[in-house]
Amino acid sequence: MHILVTGGAGFIGSHLVEHHLAKGDAVHVVDNLSTGRFENIEPFLDNPRFHFDEADILTWAGLEKAATWADRIYHMAAVVGVFRVLEDPIRVLATNIAGTERLLRFASAGRWKPQIVIASSSEVYGPTPAELLREDAMLYVQSAGKSRWNYALSKLADEAQGLSYARQYNIPICVVRLFNTVGPRQTGRYGMVLPRFVEQALSGGPITIYGGGTQTRSFCDVRDTVVALDLLADTPAASGEIVNVGNDREISISALADLVCARAKMNVERQHLSYVEAYGQQYDDILRRKPSLEKLVRLTGFTHQWRLEETLDDLIAQYRKRKAG
Ligand code: UDP
Repeated sequence: MHILVTGGAGFIGSHLVEHHLAKGDAVHVVDNLSTGRFENIEPFLDNPRFHFDEADILTWAGLEKAATWADRIYHMAAVVGVFRVLEDPIRVLATNIAGTERLLRFASAGRWKPQIVIASSSEVYGPTPAELLREDAMLYVQSAGKSRWNYALSKLADEAQGLSYARQYNIPICVVRLFNTVGPRQTGRYGMVLPRFVEQALSGGPITIYGGGTQTRSFCDVRDTVVALDLLADTPAASGEIVNVGNDREISISALADLVCARAKMNVERQHLSYVEAYGQQYDDILRRKPSLEKLVRLTGFTHQWRLEETLDDLIAQYRKRKAG
């Protein structure tokens, strides 16, 4: 199978590459290395079935050819991470919306209609009070227009584009709402809490807990995520659908800090910061974010292979190795 991964040098993208190379597929990555990192794909460069173009999907002349070559496209290219969203809210809208539009236009132009998986995000659920987030829920959009929500708005636009192209051009497109994906190769540079806590614990602390720490998240190992995406792309009934992809085990951010310390056998200080101190005025937190996985399981029979403790042990080992190196 021919697989195109936009944003394939990113954290999730590079795991998709690894997964499909292991299955014997040919994989083409386009990434401008703005969020993605060269070191994520470096191990694949010797593989004759792997091809990399360092390019921006907004302007890359090869996108049309790559999109029509592919049997399947994973569209992962996006500006992500709270710090980057707050830093450059205009670029978030431009890259995420226009990039998806350009890709879908090319993919729909060829005679051959590839399977397409579009990465959306649990961010689109917004600050909802719902305990369990289902794909058919009404969505909350904050009218005060804080920059934080630009990411959610850009992903909502991507969802609408994906579903519209699926209907109008009869392309098998599945939109996935990814919930707090974690695992090897994720960097804490752009805000993601788990790699930050691991780095902080291993370098002697303090661990920075924002907004009290009672807010909860549900973390899914990226190696489970890529299996779920592969299954969804292969499932005709998932075409034209929006599907949550994550893990429904919930944990508070304070408990996560405790778990990181326990697994790393490091007891470091916790530093509590308010959201304003951490992110400034353009941020609102989401207190709870737990996916309903009923649709994913019904469509694909997916089951998780990775527990959070195992993910953490891998991350801790990886950071220790990198530090030693
Ligand atoms: N968070 C924290 N300390 C950090 C980074 C993040 O307490 O150093 C909190 C953040 O405020 C949020 C949660 O951890 O409540 C998850 O943050 P992340 O940016 O990883 O994901 P998201 O908010 O998009 O779910």
